[in-house]
Amino acid sequence: MNLDSKIYVAGHRGLVGSAITRNLQENGYTNLVFRTSGQLDLTKRDQVDAFFEEEQPEYVFLAAAKVGGIVANNDFPADFIRDNLMIQTNVIDAAHQNHVKKLLFLGSTCIYPKLAAQPMREDSLLTGELEPTNEAYAIAKIAGIKMCQAYNRQHGTNFISIMPTNLYGPNDNFDLNSSHVLPALIRKFHEAKLNNAPTVEVWGTGTPKREFLYSDDLADAAIYLMNTYNGSDLVNVGMGKDISIKELAEKIGKTVGYSGAIVFNASKPDGAPRKLVDVNRLKDLGWTAKISLDEGLEMAYTWFLENIEKNT
Ligand code: GDP
Repeated sequence: MNLDSKIYVAGHRGLVGSAITRNLQENGYTNLVFRTSGQLDLTKRDQVDAFFEEEQPEYVFLAAAKVGGIVANNDFPADFIRDNLMIQTNVIDAAHQNHVKKLLFLGSTCIYPKLAAQPMREDSLLTGELEPTNEAYAIAKIAGIKMCQAYNRQHGTNFISIMPTNLYGPNDNFDLNSSHVLPALIRKFHEAKLNNAPTVEVWGTGTPKREFLYSDDLADAAIYLMNTYNGSDLVNVGMGKDISIKELAEKIGKTVGYSGAIVFNASKPDGAPRKLVDVNRLKDLGWTAKISLDEGLEMAYTWFLENIEKNT
């Protein structure tokens, strides 16, 4: 990308899209184009076609998706498979029809098999059964990756796919019913502190392990790969380190300054036992994560206090 290349960030108000947008702006990219979901409904093919024909972006970051935590995915599988298939099909095909130079598609590490060998390598995709709680979402994301690869092969496009681990940061979803674990626990511990609650409820057994990457790190990797990487092979993006949900809860309790007890509600699903990505391919391509979990938690809690807590 040049500093004046026309770049479309789809989903620029979300966790990933907003981080990519901040990074591009800070690094002097001046020709960015966005639409809110109210202005452009990416599930509507005619709207997507009209937008691409009008704007003719050269580079596309496809960071628009319907995402959610374990319970939301489990309860609304039809919405997750429908919206994601429609959004990505419309944008990927319109990018091809309008000769986009390069597109970056975001997969997710939750689309690797439930029992993939850890750390999960890119070539473990489609080698086993998926985690049932987010199978519908995973099938949609796998279709997006396969679509990028198929377009590259048949049409000679340059559509790359990256596989971010669990992300957190500014513009995250802090709604307790639909969010992922990290923002949910920030909110739960914060509210427990304010209410002097004796306990905080953490779902599941606390034993599953997860890896967490701050969204600014992901954005940095995405832009780095957009500028340097060409190929159909997936690239995992993560820290290469994971922690248990119990340890995460303790860390967040400390960050927030909550001194009560943690109780585990094992009637809620644990999901996959472990999700750690192998980041060797990314390292070989010249990129490593810079923001530690402790630093990221501090920044995420500060953002929560300034943007969510203030408005509720
Ligand atoms: P997953 O990575 O797709 O399984 O999605 P989540 O981030 O929603 O959940 C990760 C793990 O955190 C699961 O084992 C959850 O049961 C556990 N967890 C503990 N407390 C919470 C909570 O308050 N919200 C969510 N979403 N997950 C929680």
